Amino acid sequence: MTISLQGKTFVVMGIANKRSIAWGIARSLNRAGARLILTYNRDRMQKNVQALAETLERDDTIILQCDVSKDESIERCFQEIKEKVGTIHGLAHSIAYANKEDLEGEFVDTSREGFLLAHNISSYSLTAVARAAKELMAEGGSIVTLTYLGGERVVKNYNLMGVAKASLEASVRYLANDLGKDDIRVNSISAGPIRTLSAKGVRDFNSVLNEIEERSPLRRTTTAEEVGDTALFLLSDLSRGITGENIHVDSGFHIVSI
Ligand code: NAD
Repeated sequence: MTISLQGKTFVVMGIANKRSIAWGIARSLNRAGARLILTYNRDRMQKNVQALAETLERDDTIILQCDVSKDESIERCFQEIKEKVGTIHGLAHSIAYANKEDLEGEFVDTSREGFLLAHNISSYSLTAVARAAKELMAEGGSIVTLTYLGGERVVKNYNLMGVAKASLEASVRYLANDLGKDDIRVNSISAGPIRTLSAKGVRDFNSVLNEIEERSPLRRTTTAEEVGDTALFLLSDLSRGITGENIHVDSGFHIVSI
């Protein structure tokens, strides 16, 4: 069955470059005919996002800045979306950040400042953007965020980000419960490791990829396209009975023990 999102509008947050998982999501949504609003964080990313958007071959894509660590930036961004399109049908949140030094050494040494920063950007931001997006989802909607196995289990070198992902995954459940009465669904995708800009912050990332290739049921690493297609499913009506769920797109690695 093909999925059509013709006539629907989706916000995709978190494209830094062509390797970003958010870009994989944007391409899957574009293939299904969706209109896209792409948001980026810093000015220097605007050119990248603009160039990528041109490859979508649509003339109605909107590109906006949104720094999720600032309430006024989120407010401005969603006000602009309201003025430009009115109603949106879904949102993909593909955003995380932690200081590199907090991903090294031991979790027990995490600073208060580093802890709060990682949780602010990687977890709280979902709640902040869900609240803003809800106002524009008059016809119901679907929200998807990105998490990792390190939120469920101790994964070497993932440290603080694992704790932030656990908070993000719990937020998905509470948001799903709050927003369900407005016919808004909230789910997460737990992606296998993919070589992106963010992944550069994780030490020994190559050996993580090797392990997935050797030990995952599918014996291969995850691609942004695979994650994009699952996001497409979760953002479409095909998944209309699913909310508060976490779907692993990781070649099955999460089921494997030593
Ligand atoms: P990426 O670096 O391409 O994307 C991360 C994005 O977060 C960037 O676009 C960055 O600009 C954005 N961001 C950071 N701080 C922000 C802020 N204050 N405001 C707005 N945006 C901000 O890397 P990615 O791997 O595509 O990461 C996307 C998501 O996928 C993250 O949540 C990440 O934890 C998750 N994830 C990644 C992997 C992986 O192996 N790459 C695996 C599982 C989950």
